[in-house]
This record gives sequence, C-alpha cells and structure tokens, in this order.
Amino acid sequence: MTQVTLSFTIQGDSEGFVTFECPFCSSEFKVRADELQHDEKPVMDLFCPYCGLTSNKNNFYTKETVEKIEALAMNYAIEQLNKTFGKMARNINSTSKGVIKMDFKPLKTVNVRELKDRDTTEEIFACSCCEQHVKVLYCAGVSKVYCPYCGVDI
Ligand SMILES: [Zn+2]
Ligand SMILES: [Zn+2]
Repeated sequence: MTQVTLSFTIQGDSEGFVTFECPFCSSEFKVRADELQHDEKPVMDLFCPYCGLTSNKNNFYTKETVEKIEALAMNYAIEQLNKTFGKMARNINSTSKGVIKMDFKPLKTVNVRELKDRDTTEEIFACSCCEQHVKVLYCAGVSKVYCPYCGVDI
C-alpha cells in the first residue's frame, strides 16, 4: 500500500471562521481558519470552548467535514480502479484481437459537497493568553468560555 495524502479546503464564513464540533458535548464553535492552519505553530489539539475538554483536532471535525473527507477518499479509490481496469480492458482488447472482449464502464465518482460556513449569530472572543479567536454561541447560562488553543478561561 502506498500512502496517499488527500488535501481539501474548508471555506470559512464571511469573517474566515470555520465550524468545529466538540466530540464530547456535540456543541459547535468556530475558529479562525488562518489561526488554525498556522504554518509556524501547527495546532494539534483543540479545547472545546464550552466544556473545556481537549482532543486531537481531527476529532473536532463536523459531520459535514467528515462526509466530505470520506467522499474525497472514495473518489480517489474509484479513480484508481477506473484507471487500472480501463488499462486492463484496453490491453485485453488489443492483444486478444476480438477473441475476448472486456467491457468496462468506468464507475461514477460521488458528489463532493462544497463546504461553506453560513454566518450565524455567535460572538467572537479573543484569548488574552494566546491572542487567538473563537466564535461561540454565547447564551445565557454559559458562564465560562475556554480558549480552543490553550484551554484557559476567556
Ligand atoms: Zn465540549
Ligand atoms: Zn488561548
């Protein structure tokens, strides 16, 4: 097996924030795409701004994002199969001179949805510790907001 890297982009909302979902409490929050994908200090783990629990950032992808990743992986596999079988069919058909005929219909790839975050009515908080930003649904009753990067109270 060779390793393949599939890359994809998530478009943020009008302020450049992308949605994540906490794997523990299923709450959604947003972080700035440019802060999350910082080249010099890559972010590995995120803290949930609501419950403060931390996990690898891959666990914070929303269902929509996971679906998109799965669709991309599926399409890659289908394209590889199509390439392999298309070549095989051409080979068989040209060498067997009509004795054996291999018919091959390429498989259709699945639709990959464009991910675009809609604007919602969340509030932006800036962390006093790392100066990065988080957008949370700040409703009454929520007394604490944690920084998704360093996990401190904002
Ligand atoms: Zn949480
Ligand atoms: Zn912070």
